[in-house]
Amino acid sequence: MAHLRFQALQEVLRRQPIEVKYPSKKISDYYGINVFDKQKMQKYLSIEAYRSVQKSIDKGIRIDRKIADGVAAGMKAWATEKGATHYTHWFHPLTDATAEKHDAFIELSDTDVVIENFSGSALVQQEPDASSFPSGGIRNTFEARGYTAWDPSSPAFIVDNTLSIPTIFVSYTGEALDHKTPLLRSMAAIDKAATEVCLYFDRSVTKVYPTLGSEQEYFLIDDALFHARPDLVLTDRTLMGHASAKDQQLEDHYFSSIPERVSAFMKDFEIEAYKLGIPVKTRHNEVAPNQFECAPIFEEANLATDHNLLLMDLMKTISRRHSFKILFHEKPFADVNGSGKHCNWSLVTDNGINLLAPGKTPRTNLLFLTFLVNTVKAVHEHADLLRATISSAGNAHRLGGNEAPPAIMSVFLGDRVSKMLDLIEQEVTERKMTPDEKTELKLNIGKIPQILLDNTDRNRTSPFAFTGNRFEFRAVGASTNVASPIIALNSAVADQLVKFNSEVQVLMKKKVKKDEAIFQVLRKYIIESKPIRFEGNNYGKEWIREAAKRKLSNIKDVPESMDAFLSQKTIDMYSRQGVLDKRELEGRTKVRLEMYTKRIQIEARVLGDIAINHILPTAIKYQSELIENVRGLKEIFDEDEYRELSAARLDRIKEITGHISGIMAKVGEMIEERKKANRIEDTRKRAGTYSIKVYPYLADIREHIDKLELIVDNETWPLPKYRELLFVR
Ligand code: ADP
Ligand code: MG
Repeated sequence: MAHLRFQALQEVLRRQPIEVKYPSKKISDYYGINVFDKQKMQKYLSIEAYRSVQKSIDKGIRIDRKIADGVAAGMKAWATEKGATHYTHWFHPLTDATAEKHDAFIELSDTDVVIENFSGSALVQQEPDASSFPSGGIRNTFEARGYTAWDPSSPAFIVDNTLSIPTIFVSYTGEALDHKTPLLRSMAAIDKAATEVCLYFDRSVTKVYPTLGSEQEYFLIDDALFHARPDLVLTDRTLMGHASAKDQQLEDHYFSSIPERVSAFMKDFEIEAYKLGIPVKTRHNEVAPNQFECAPIFEEANLATDHNLLLMDLMKTISRRHSFKILFHEKPFADVNGSGKHCNWSLVTDNGINLLAPGKTPRTNLLFLTFLVNTVKAVHEHADLLRATISSAGNAHRLGGNEAPPAIMSVFLGDRVSKMLDLIEQEVTERKMTPDEKTELKLNIGKIPQILLDNTDRNRTSPFAFTGNRFEFRAVGASTNVASPIIALNSAVADQLVKFNSEVQVLMKKKVKKDEAIFQVLRKYIIESKPIRFEGNNYGKEWIREAAKRKLSNIKDVPESMDAFLSQKTIDMYSRQGVLDKRELEGRTKVRLEMYTKRIQIEARVLGDIAINHILPTAIKYQSELIENVRGLKEIFDEDEYRELSAARLDRIKEITGHISGIMAKVGEMIEERKKANRIEDTRKRAGTYSIKVYPYLADIREHIDKLELIVDNETWPLPKYRELLFVR
């Protein structure tokens, strides 16, 4: 039998792009048709029910049972008209995936007749058998139950004949077992804190909410080639593979024309996304071959998070239709760029002011500066936590690698804003300003152009960059549930704004005028948070030294970085903001550590298996051929000629022998290290041991395999090579 590798290559060459039909000429004709949005609510709900849902969305008030029945009936009517037969509570357990359990709308009546039904209680609350979802020990046996509860702020939608209802997932005793619960709590926290601060400037603000636009990067690999790589199938990344002679050096992929098959895939998932009301806007090729990006228009953060998860699911499903496999892993291929998910974040008021956009007047710019400086201060204060929220086995390949922001957190502000902050800082450090100079300063602030969106003033190497009217958290990995970093960001900024507010209040009680008080506190924050600001090249070696001088932490080890979740600082901040308590934090940290351990464990097993079952037999076969060849030379040539001709071949044989022995020895050692690590009870220690003792073997073993790949007969090499995975489509 020919190798799967060659069969796969032949299959790829026969592929044709699938023709994609648009449902209508205009996107607006079918945008949101599968979403139970405001318009549909108005149509299918009584006025009373509609108002009650809207109130619950705006104020977070519970919907009473009678009303819930009415809402459920309306939802069911809409859904069944659209052909839905089932419903599900859709939630985000701590596994970074989404979960659902489908129930049919049917019930048996007293006379055993089947009727369609969907009650208010089925809408509002469910008890999935949730015992297999990770909780980090929060649910012990007597309280093993968890329940899901409706989140009316994210509309229900239909996917594949199933009405999906976004829900939170909490334990019987009320602890969060998901990402959405703390996300909603953090949104409430920042709403409260930010609204209060807004009132210094604008009395009409009653609500503030974070906005989020996440740019999703991904790789596409042909399905057939994917299935010929057990490492991709089982770990989402290649554990071996020599770099292709050509990869991204020529930078000929970035923004170049999109290949036909890929373009068909993009159109297809975009259509489905539009039907679900996901505003995908931008699509382009990324830097690495076969790497692409998709960015939606930003939305309120909770909805944007649901939409990102839904989009990832959609992309997975639809890629199959096009014989692609989509990879969200942060580093599927060594030596070419990995995939991130830049999270663009800002704060908007209910009267439409973007709090991180410079305004037109000195007054609105003081508002802008207030939120900007407080955000910088919050990032400085909680940099370790922010890193922890995005650190994972996958993202570890990016952070600290020379392509993505390093494991040092810093903030980039750009020239103009930096100068502005420097100006304010100098006032206090050098001398007191004259009244004229103060006016000048205020006028200067007034001169911040309303739109700073200048592409030349972008720092692509910064983990956390101000981009003119928002911050862009660039260190987030492609597979991450964005709720995780956004929860931390919302909470840290909320906590900071509360402090700011009380410091201003203290000064005002001492008869300092309001604006002056705000200035003084901001000045203090600018000075205190200065070490986190960095405008230079984050990839450079100098930055590592400079950051150390500034006492900024640089933690590359994943389990170690997660310690920040349980630092006193984090526990206090989250509990002050009512986002996560200590028990919840302990639970989810444990889940993350376990996930890390399992990932490395699986990678180590898979690599060991492939090395022994695929690579060694192939290498040994080729080695035997060489030996046979040398024997032949000896037979037909005289002694001198033989010696001359066989020298290079003998070296090759020795080289192959070296790699074979290396693989055998290291796989054995790695198994021993794993056994030792598995005996460790403590979750943190076990993860740490996997990171320090097991993980390094992955690179060591890989090195031998990649060398062999260059030597061994191409005809017999069993796994698709990088040049095939990345360039054949
Ligand atoms: P780039 O690659 O240059 O960063 P993109 O257009 O790919 O830009 O992505 C920018 C993202 O930022 C989009 O998702 C966009 O909607 C989002 N964005 C723009 N303004 C805001 C804002 N005020 N709050 C949150 N996200 C925003
Ligand atoms: Mg970006």
